[in-house]
Amino acid sequence: MSAVQSIKIGSRPNLFHFTRRSQPMVDRADGIYLWDKSGRRYIDGSSGAVNVNVGHGNRNVIDAMKRQLDRVSFAYIFQFENEQAVTLARELADRLPNGLDRIYFVSGGSEAVEACLKLARQWAVATGQDKRWKIIGRMPSYHGITLGTLAVTGDDVLTKTFDPIGRPMPLVPAPFVHRNRDNLSVDERGIRYANMLEEKILEQGPESVLAFIMEPIGGAATAALVPPDSYFARIREICDRYGILLIHDEVMTGIGRTGKFLGGDHWSCRPDIVALSKGLSSGYAPLGALAATERIVGPVVAAGGFLHGHTYGGNPVACAAGVAVLGEVDRLGLVENSAVMGEVLRGELEALSGRFPFVADVRGKGLFMGAELYADPLARTPLPQNLNANLRLIDLAFERGLIIYSRRVRGGPVSDNFMVCPPLITTREQIGEIIAVLGDTLEALA
Ligand code: PLP
Repeated sequence: MSAVQSIKIGSRPNLFHFTRRSQPMVDRADGIYLWDKSGRRYIDGSSGAVNVNVGHGNRNVIDAMKRQLDRVSFAYIFQFENEQAVTLARELADRLPNGLDRIYFVSGGSEAVEACLKLARQWAVATGQDKRWKIIGRMPSYHGITLGTLAVTGDDVLTKTFDPIGRPMPLVPAPFVHRNRDNLSVDERGIRYANMLEEKILEQGPESVLAFIMEPIGGAATAALVPPDSYFARIREICDRYGILLIHDEVMTGIGRTGKFLGGDHWSCRPDIVALSKGLSSGYAPLGALAATERIVGPVVAAGGFLHGHTYGGNPVACAAGVAVLGEVDRLGLVENSAVMGEVLRGELEALSGRFPFVADVRGKGLFMGAELYADPLARTPLPQNLNANLRLIDLAFERGLIIYSRRVRGGPVSDNFMVCPPLITTREQIGEIIAVLGDTLEALA
């Protein structure tokens, strides 16, 4: 009997990943649902890892990939151009704002962010600014799991474990404006948080600072934290003042997830470099990309080219998936659906917060919604960590056939939280279904 056949469904597989957690064996998936081998159905309220934007089992994406497999399954990016990569680059450049039209393909989110950091550094070297190397991140935050991306991630356990290999970079606080107790308006608080970037730059020495990296709307680490409007313009102003590059990590927020093509499009942001992945292939193939302006890419190319390149970068089948996904996003109006259904979901989550007062601070944009769990919501007292409320919440939901997203981050003011991020094809009725199960789950947690 092969190792795979010997796995008891629902028992501890542990054959291909290093974890003690037992998980059911997935059997099939369609739309916003997955089924395991025992026939149990799960609502995908997290779109996998917030990546299956067009939903499961999309025939147009699958057929496009099959057609590409029949023509060319692989052609090395340093030997051949391939039509799918060229088309996808063009399609992306058409949709991205403010001159972000130089595209580079990689195989995932961490690689995309890692490549952004490397491109920024190469730009500095190519433009005679060798002393610039520090990349300021935020606490808490998540930018990936490779050593370079961990260095800019704000998570005490993740970064301290690997320090000094991926020595942590300077961090500034994420804009948790709703936590402040002062007489300032939300926009004034936004400015105050943005000014902390300037303070950090001055503390570090402006000539040593290369870039600032942030998610326009916080994802895994902050459960859909939306900064105030004032934050964005001030951040750009500060970056310009000190000649610092602005990198937007849109790995989770990109490709319609928040009700605009990019999360930053809610504020007409002008990042110099953007990381994309997740929704770009919607989980049909490993794919990521970075987009940058000519101002950044030009000097790097002139100096000899980008010192990057993985075997699977620009893979034709992955890019075929990307082209088909963008086609489906347009054909099905998924950016608009995310915006409209996001408001329905917000209303329902706020109603749940009324029913279960320990759920508070419902926030987000589009189908990218989150909330926090508090011991005392008025005082914003977090739940004791040893209760493991976020893990219990995920498990209780899973037992009831609903998948939601929750990740405990160590560091910063965040308490236990969760996100509801179903595929962008989700209907009003399906949101009702999600909320009914979530209500039962919170009842069991209370
Ligand atoms: N950046 C952000 C904002 C993410 O949310 C993630 C993953 O959750 C990553 C980067 C890393 O992406 P991946 O898991 O594809 O390496």
